[in-house]
Amino acid sequence: MDCPRDNTEMTELTDGEDRLLFRCAECGGLWLDVADLNRILLHNGLATLEAMGGRANPEEDAGECPVDNVALLAVESQHKRNPLVYETCESCGGIWLESADFAEEGDSAEELTKGIVEFYREFAVKPGTKAARK
Ligand SMILES: [Zn+2]
Ligand SMILES: [Zn+2]
Repeated sequence: MDCPRDNTEMTELTDGEDRLLFRCAECGGLWLDVADLNRILLHNGLATLEAMGGRANPEEDAGECPVDNVALLAVESQHKRNPLVYETCESCGGIWLESADFAEEGDSAEELTKGIVEFYREFAVKPGTKAARK
């Protein structure tokens, strides 16, 4: 599968629980399936992606889904300044994350999963609240 940003062939990673992540060595982006993402989120005490909210930003040119070539939709967190952004394919449910912020070259799938959890923990925080509410 090729990276939606730069068409580099992405590396397949697994954490041993049949969970697959695809990582682009060129830009550090991560691709995973929404079902896997929701499992990761629930496992870590977070809401599922749908329950998390966020604003779709159709203005953002997000590239194309590597699975079915449908245009990706950028979704932003509610933070007013520097919102976090992930991209999603409404057709196949794929999720694209710019992982450059939290991932480092050579990270294992387990380490990347931790980064993903941190990303969504931050994403879920509503403006004006210090911590995510249950
Ligand atoms: Zn890339
Ligand atoms: Zn797709």
